[in-house]
Amino acid sequence: MKTSLVAALAGNPNSGKTTAFNAFTGAHQHVGNYPGITVERKEGPVTLADGETLHLIDLPGVYSLSAYTQEETVARQVLASERPDVVIDILNAGALERNLYLAIQLLELGIPLVLGLNMMDEARDHGVIIDMARLSERLGVPVRPAVARTGYGLPELLRAAVDEARKREGQPWKPLNISYGPDLDPVLTSIQRRVEEARLLADVYPPRWVALKFLEQDREIIAQAREQAPQLCAEFEAQVKEVAAHLHATLNTSPEGVIADYRYGAISSILRDGVLVRQEDRHARRALSDRMDKVLTHGLLGPLIMLLILYLIYQVTFTLGEWPMELVTAFFGFLRDLAENSMSDGVLKSMVISGIIDGVGGVMSFVPLIMIMFLLIAILEDSGYMARMAYMLDRIFRVFGLHGASVMPFIVGGGIAGGCAVPGVLAARTLRSPREKLATLLTVPFMACGAKLPVFILFAGVFFPAHQAMVIFGLTLTGWIVAMLCARLLRSTVIRGPATPFVMELPPYRFPTLQGLCIHTLERTWEYFKKAWTVILAVSIVFWAAMTYPRLPDATLADFAARQTAVEALYSAPEQAAALAEAKADLAHEQATLALRHTIAGRVGLALEPLTQAAGFDWRTDIALIGGFAAKEVIVATMGTAYSLGEIDAEGENPQLAERIRDDHRWNPATALALLVFVLLYAPCLVTLVAIRHETGSWRWPLFSLIFNTLVAYTMAVIVRHAAAFLL
Ligand code: GDP
Ligand code: MG
Repeated sequence: MKTSLVAALAGNPNSGKTTAFNAFTGAHQHVGNYPGITVERKEGPVTLADGETLHLIDLPGVYSLSAYTQEETVARQVLASERPDVVIDILNAGALERNLYLAIQLLELGIPLVLGLNMMDEARDHGVIIDMARLSERLGVPVRPAVARTGYGLPELLRAAVDEARKREGQPWKPLNISYGPDLDPVLTSIQRRVEEARLLADVYPPRWVALKFLEQDREIIAQAREQAPQLCAEFEAQVKEVAAHLHATLNTSPEGVIADYRYGAISSILRDGVLVRQEDRHARRALSDRMDKVLTHGLLGPLIMLLILYLIYQVTFTLGEWPMELVTAFFGFLRDLAENSMSDGVLKSMVISGIIDGVGGVMSFVPLIMIMFLLIAILEDSGYMARMAYMLDRIFRVFGLHGASVMPFIVGGGIAGGCAVPGVLAARTLRSPREKLATLLTVPFMACGAKLPVFILFAGVFFPAHQAMVIFGLTLTGWIVAMLCARLLRSTVIRGPATPFVMELPPYRFPTLQGLCIHTLERTWEYFKKAWTVILAVSIVFWAAMTYPRLPDATLADFAARQTAVEALYSAPEQAAALAEAKADLAHEQATLALRHTIAGRVGLALEPLTQAAGFDWRTDIALIGGFAAKEVIVATMGTAYSLGEIDAEGENPQLAERIRDDHRWNPATALALLVFVLLYAPCLVTLVAIRHETGSWRWPLFSLIFNTLVAYTMAVIVRHAAAFLL
């Protein structure tokens, strides 16, 4: 045990710090200057009631721990180099929000901290009522009331500081992690990791804090870091420059602006969570935001409005998307005709038509729909409403052993249909508790990601044309429900453990800029587009080959040729032309089906059929579902190929996949629903598995989710199929 503890008094200017300092130290104070600058340094000993002594330093008054002023730089340096055992932050209780801005930064630094809510007399006169126990619970630090001018509460504040210092003695600082939203979090985490690896300024500041300073473009810290690792710092600065340009283009703001917004968001959500009974005046944007939140996050109205907004997103997407989607489909139909008529029969023609045009075309036709959905999601994100959704869902989440911060990964992963599990998995990094993080990682892939949408749209369009939006909305909801139930299951079995309290951020509402929306929408659509032409094209061709080879033996082919000649001879009269065409089509169909069954893919599909029949999937569907392990987009593409290989158009028609499925007697609403549920829930795609492996550090969890999710999907599909067959 150290004999004399060192405590530092921090706080905004005019919060009553000096008054408190004088009351603590009395006449025993030493006043000087910090070396080389005019900032005053005051310090002195304090004797506690039990005789213990404490060395107290009065830091310069600051609003923030950035390096905009000399005072801020000094305050920060004292904390970093003298490492006091505890910081006593003196706050003006009447302006809690502004004063907590500094407290939040001290928490982010992780230094032992107690809060003294000063000027309680004035605050009370203005009718401000603060629930201090709740504030203390939300921030995880002791909070005490005080009136420095009369000395009320000061001994208790000092006592709390000493206790906190003793409690945390010898332990490293415990920094609080705040999420800075989807734009900054990935950069922040990436820099943080590398700071950690390089042990950059490791003796002085926590790694995340250093990373944050890079994003805040803090000249002083960056200069210090440069001395240690110039190369690394240059890379960080390039990364920051890129995200800064992106933020400027999309939201017309800077990283510093976003950081400040999220800090105020964190404070505001703490204050509204039962801490502040009456609020003080605040600047206009915040005030307007709060008025909007009174309605939009209202206990009863909020969730209703949220459901309505989500439902509208689906309605608008499908109403607006119908026409452009037909246009794209028609275009690929035209390409198909072109290839059909201009290429000579053979392997190349089959590959171009079945592998490329049907495969990639199937995926491309969903681009308009997906683009509209991305645009609507961008509006939710950019306006700040997405954060409110997270806030409202938080309470429900805790029931299921997840975290309020799990909401973001879920939403990003497809909680609003159209996301992607890969960034969803990455977004789970903001979760501090390893158990809740793992539960989130493992359940994000249940969400309705954008790659599953084409399957949903296709089958909903064929079997439930009047309720397309409803079906997709229902599937999205199913994704949530299954994710929550599985999270609950996992949290009470393989990942048991207590929950962690957390801070939810509410940035102020913003009016999305047109430019920002365009950039966000186009970026994501482009990702989808690129995937269609690279991964999906490659997988399409591989699957086309697997569905083409080995070919039927020559003897069988000769047999079919002979049967064709026989048929032609049988219906040789001109008036029998119609009958001839029909007989030839039947024959061609028989041959094509036999050929597909003979291929590698056909054999695998057939081998699986007995198993998947319980859910109503035939061997051709199995082929497509196997393709989906690589990437979910491939499902529709592979189905397109499987069905076009299996059905050669004898009458010169080019039925689209939708028509083929409609005409296939094996498909009905019940099997369609079973397939939709299976596709929604089964094994995460390859890229997601790699991401899970990266986040958990071992192949154990991706392997687990591969098996677990597929089992869940299979069980659900079988149940849905039989229940639907019974009900429909
Ligand atoms: P500093 O800038 O943080 O050092 O603040 P000071 O200690 O100089 O205080 C600023 C003003 O607030 C002074 O006029 C103090 O008398 C007054 N003050 C300090 N504490 C209290 C308090 O608890 N209640 C009230 N009503 N005034 C206070
Ligand atoms: Mg002062």
